[in-house]
Amino acid sequence: MKEEEIRPKRIFDEYRRLAELDAEKYFGASGREHVCCPACGLNGLYSFTKHTFVYEECPACQTLFASPRPPVEAFSLFYQESESAKYVASTFYKETAEARREKIWRPKAKMLSEIIKRFGADRSDMVDIGGGYGIFAEEFGKISGRQVTVIEPGSALAEICRGKGLKVIQGFLDDIEPGQLPVGSKVFVSFELFEHLHAPEKFLLRLKELMGSGDMFIFTTLSGAGVDIQALWEDSKSVSPPHHLNFFNPKSARILLERSGFEVLQTSTPGKLDIDILCNNQEFIKDRFWRTFIIQASEAEKQAMQTFISDNGLSSHMLVVCRKL
Ligand SMILES: [Zn+2]
Repeated sequence: MKEEEIRPKRIFDEYRRLAELDAEKYFGASGREHVCCPACGLNGLYSFTKHTFVYEECPACQTLFASPRPPVEAFSLFYQESESAKYVASTFYKETAEARREKIWRPKAKMLSEIIKRFGADRSDMVDIGGGYGIFAEEFGKISGRQVTVIEPGSALAEICRGKGLKVIQGFLDDIEPGQLPVGSKVFVSFELFEHLHAPEKFLLRLKELMGSGDMFIFTTLSGAGVDIQALWEDSKSVSPPHHLNFFNPKSARILLERSGFEVLQTSTPGKLDIDILCNNQEFIKDRFWRTFIIQASEAEKQAMQTFISDNGLSSHMLVVCRKL
């Protein structure tokens, strides 16, 4: 898979331009509060500033996180109104929807169905938090024959999901009552949401209230210890404030989850794009090893390296499987 197929440069660059303007417009005048490492609670050390957002790195678990942080209210407004948030929901996802269905959601639905089978949860009801266009729900439904419940706060996206015949609960996780969810055992999933969360621990504690004992939570997010983010660091396009605030890694995600009362069943990094992202951003690579590798390696060597990266927890696309104790 290539980055261009799921994130065309033209569309991605425009999104990044709008996000930079929004960082100033929505957060320029807002107060900011110091936050500790969202995984282990220690004070972070200054790493860099990007579009007025300061990022710190935890000296103990290497989580990269935005601190100080604007208040959560500023983010609510930003996600409802801002040009970059609208651009993601309209142009970005609309123009890439079918490519993403084939390259991302269909394989992901297959992977998820294998995971839940492995952990004996294939008869559980699936709930997709932040289900967006509902493409995962559609694809998982095709494979499993089971209906996915979508939790989606955005009214336009919720309407699109309803139009597809999906079961939708419109609202943020905070607004959901346990009675709105399917009865019986459940598997909660969320994709590319965790890096956006203002307060990840609070999110997990709220989620736990909606979960029964033994229910699973499976999520994907960016790993800040992944190859392309490590090599590009502040120039990584994944480090895009105000959207992306938390970059956990396999080690630190485990710390946060165990602290929050979850049993971690698996952390892995099934990402496929690290090397391609480095190829597309050669001029920003800081590390000599990676710069030389990207210039000299053959396609086959790059593919072998990507496989090694994914197999050894070193990709920036991370998958976590856990269960409420
Ligand atoms: Zn930490």
